[in-house]
Amino acid sequence: MANHYTVLAGGTGAAKFLRGLTAVLPPEEVHVIVNVGDDTEMWGLHISPDVDTILYALSGRLDAERGWGLRNETFRCLEAIKPLGMPSWFQLGDADLATHLTRTELLRGGLTLGDVTERLALLFGVQAKVLPASNDRVRTKIDTPEGLISFQEFFVRDRWQPDVRSVIYSGAAEARAPISVVSSIREAKAIFIAPSNPITSIGPILAVPAIRDALRCTRADIIAISPIIGTAPVSGPAAKLMEACGYEVSPAGVVRCYKDFLDDVIIHETDAALAASIRYDTLGVHVTDILMPDIENARRLAEFALGVNG
Ligand code: GDP
Repeated sequence: MANHYTVLAGGTGAAKFLRGLTAVLPPEEVHVIVNVGDDTEMWGLHISPDVDTILYALSGRLDAERGWGLRNETFRCLEAIKPLGMPSWFQLGDADLATHLTRTELLRGGLTLGDVTERLALLFGVQAKVLPASNDRVRTKIDTPEGLISFQEFFVRDRWQPDVRSVIYSGAAEARAPISVVSSIREAKAIFIAPSNPITSIGPILAVPAIRDALRCTRADIIAISPIIGTAPVSGPAAKLMEACGYEVSPAGVVRCYKDFLDDVIIHETDAALAASIRYDTLGVHVTDILMPDIENARRLAEFALGVNG
C-alpha cells in the first residue's frame, strides 16, 4: 500500500512548496524527483544546483531570500580564484563548496548521483527521499543566435538575456530512470508537479522516456501547481523559454506542457476566469492563492493541494 507523495521538482519554486508539504506531512512520506538538466562542471567539481537547493531547503539551511545556496554564506574562495584566471561567473559559496567537493569525490569513487544524494540527505538530516531524475548525463542546452550554451551559462553568466531559439535536453533520450524513481511514480498516493519552470526544470525530467511513460501509466492523481500567474512567472526566465518552445505563457500553457498525463491544475485566484477555458476533458481546475512568500503560505498551499487529491 502506497504511503508516499511524489513531487517533481526544479529549484526555487519547488523548494518553497516542499517546505510547506514537509510541514504538513511526515517528511519521510515525501519523495522528490529532482531535475538534473541544470547540472554542470565547474573548477573540476560536479554541481547539481536543483538537488542542492532541495537538500538545503529541506534541511532548513537555504538562503530563502536568494532562493539558492546556504544562509550566512561567504565567497572567499570565489574572490581568491578570480585572479588565478578561473571562471568566476558561477557563484560558489565557501560552505557550498564542501557539498560539491564531497559529491565529486564520491562520484569519482564510483557511486551514482542517486547514491551520493541519499548520503548527503542523510548527513544533512533530510528525511524526505530526494531522487535525482537520472544517474545518466542529461544537460539542458539553450540554442541562441550565437550558438548552443549550457543552461547555467544562459541563466547565470548571461542573466537570461540572449534570444532563445529552442531548448535541447542533451542525453535525455538515452537516459535511464533509476528503479526508485519509476516506482516512486507508480506507487505514489498522488504526484505533485511543483511550481517550477516547465521548460528547464520539469522539462528535462519529462524528457527521460521511462519517467514520462511512468507518469502516463500511473494510477496516482497528477496535480500541477502553476508557476505562472496571468501572463508572467512569479520569478525567473520561464516566459522567454515557454515562448521559444511554442507554449502560451499562461496557466493554460503550463497545462499544455503536461497534458498527456495531468489530472488537475491549481491556478491563482486572479486567474479564476480562465478556469472554464482550461477545464477540458477530465482536467480539474482548482483556484486558490498560489503565492508562497513565507512558510505559512507554503503550508496553506500544500494543504490545499493535498485536499485536491482527497
Ligand atoms: P527558474 O528560476 O526559472 O530556473 O526555475 P525554478 O524551477 O528553479 O524556480 C522558479 C519557478 O518557480 C518560476 O517559474 C516561478 O514562477 C516559480 N515560483 C517561484 N516562487 C513561486 C511562488 O511563490 N508561487 C508559485 N506558484 N510559483 C513560484
